[in-house]
Amino acid sequence: MELKKITENTYYIPGPTNLGLFVEDKKVILIDSGNDEWVGRKIFRLLEEREWELSKIINTHSNADHIGGNAYLQKKTNCDILATALESVFIDEPSLEPFLLWGASPFKALRNKFLQAQPSRVTHIIGEEGIISGTPLQAFPLEGHFIQMIGVKTPDEVLFLADSLFSTETISKYGLTVKSDIEKSLNTYSLLEKLSARLFIPSHTAPTKDISDLIRVNRENVEQINRKILYYCSEPVSRERLIQLLINDYQITLSSVQFVLTHITVSAHLSYLYDKQLIKPKFEEGKMLWTGNDKIDL
Ligand SMILES: [Zn+2]
Repeated sequence: MELKKITENTYYIPGPTNLGLFVEDKKVILIDSGNDEWVGRKIFRLLEEREWELSKIINTHSNADHIGGNAYLQKKTNCDILATALESVFIDEPSLEPFLLWGASPFKALRNKFLQAQPSRVTHIIGEEGIISGTPLQAFPLEGHFIQMIGVKTPDEVLFLADSLFSTETISKYGLTVKSDIEKSLNTYSLLEKLSARLFIPSHTAPTKDISDLIRVNRENVEQINRKILYYCSEPVSRERLIQLLINDYQITLSSVQFVLTHITVSAHLSYLYDKQLIKPKFEEGKMLWTGNDKIDL
């Protein structure tokens, strides 16, 4: 685990989930805590070596790969944990994440560390926008991926983007990236276009000074999936069948975890297209089928 200095007070730790540190007078505010207890232990040791004290963790959102180190770090340091109201519910009760993804009590294959972290205790609920109380950091609403995700900007102009933007490589590998709300994702891209920073740090790809290409690629991906679904809805089609068609299009290797992640994203697109009055459900022979208004070409 390597600590990279960006500015006077801001650092980041590259990894499967990039983590941020804002350090003032040897007191550390950590932005997200990584995949699991192992990452938590590594962070703890890294701070100990420098005689830094962990005062707060700000979680951008509650997905297991962003809060996995919380429980260990809070047990060792009694640090505060800050999150938005809706995300805090999932941090306090991480079993809700696989529950939400499956839509009922999840079967065992979904109750693993990729979807369900150890519980930790959120000590402060924070707003989605503006100065994060008790810190010099600023929050930005980046909804669309999970329920109430935020970005965090340090006073020295480093902006941590959470999972609002995925890399071109991730998009070409998986085709679909997790979305819970398409309208909000598109609004987030528009907001991101207006934000400035010295450096942007997405959680799952390399830091960059310019996010315009990433925004374009992510927006095009959302639009492409909308078009594909509209095309498939030329004939009445079930959600399960749509998932199958997209899984085949993007050559995604299916597993229980991959299924629920694809399922939530396809569901988000269906809600979006329904609200735009482009598709509607009909009920036939015990099936819920989605159908579009017109014949659409890809
Ligand atoms: Zn993530």
